[in-house]
Amino acid sequence: MKIVMLARNPNLYSHKRLVEAAEARGHEIRIVDTLRCYMNIVSRRPEIYYNGEKLTGYDAVIPRIGASITFYGMAVLRQFEMMGVYPLNESVGIGRSRDKLRSMQLLARDGIGLPATTFAHDPKQTEEVLKVAGSAPLVIKLLEGTQGMGVVLADTDRSAKSVIEAFRATKTNILVQEFIKEAGGTDIRAIVIGGKVVAAMKRNGAEGEFRSNLHLGGTAEVIKLSPAERATAVGAAKSMGLNACGVDMLRSDNGPLVMEVNSSPGLEGVEKATGLDIAGKIIEFIEKSAKPGATKTKGK
Ligand code: ADP
Ligand code: GLU
Repeated sequence: MKIVMLARNPNLYSHKRLVEAAEARGHEIRIVDTLRCYMNIVSRRPEIYYNGEKLTGYDAVIPRIGASITFYGMAVLRQFEMMGVYPLNESVGIGRSRDKLRSMQLLARDGIGLPATTFAHDPKQTEEVLKVAGSAPLVIKLLEGTQGMGVVLADTDRSAKSVIEAFRATKTNILVQEFIKEAGGTDIRAIVIGGKVVAAMKRNGAEGEFRSNLHLGGTAEVIKLSPAERATAVGAAKSMGLNACGVDMLRSDNGPLVMEVNSSPGLEGVEKATGLDIAGKIIEFIEKSAKPGATKTKGK
């Protein structure tokens, strides 16, 4: 197969592993910098160019589009979809998962467990938002945050109110969430490929830290998921319409609660914790799925 991977940095662990896995299985794979692709929008003849060259003849596309370039990256991916190139994840699914409010609404609609979450836009409503969200401890999150930055635990109602007001003053969207204390500073990352959990790890936050992000000094270990956790991870991937993703969950007294679904999960932490060849499983999934014209949305 001829595979193209949309990514900005070819040196990232995950990107190197995907190239390695594709080549090991006899495929031709090439990385193109998403932001350097340009498109010609012509009726019925979608084209895509890169450094003066027309990109044609690809069977599959692996989108590894960074959060900061989601808007342009999805346009590039849609163009490939319209050309009939099979996307590992469709642009629509990526768009859903990148929008925290939209994804939580879709997960809730499908009955997937979520931490009780409140969001609002008007800063004058802080008191009312807190009334709906319940009392402290509460977790307050910036919608655009990643890697645990912009996630704050407010221990008292008073600190919750001042954190919300401080965030509001910066005119960013936030959400207020019940604090799942029993998760104990840990969370679960399940990798779902083709409707099955292929790997799972538990991330433990650094000492005294309620956030379990590996970037913040957390550590990872392999775990076995309960049937409910498996079903939740698979259900979350299905709600988003993602073929390959990472589902982050908290273990609560009421069962697994989904925090986030990541359409380009990092492979380093999970491959190292589990010893599994996740990149190989992704390529294998593409081999099974990529047939000319197999893309369902055609970029719609
Ligand atoms: P990011 O997307 O920036 O990583 P998350 O929403 O995943 O932000 O939060 C970072 C970490 O904080 C999570 O991995 C989890 O350990 C912890 N956390 C987030 N929300 C809650 C919550 N409602 N209750 C308990 N812990 C939480
Ligand atoms: N109702 C559509 C769906 O769930 C679109 C919702 C969305 O993607 O936000 O497929």
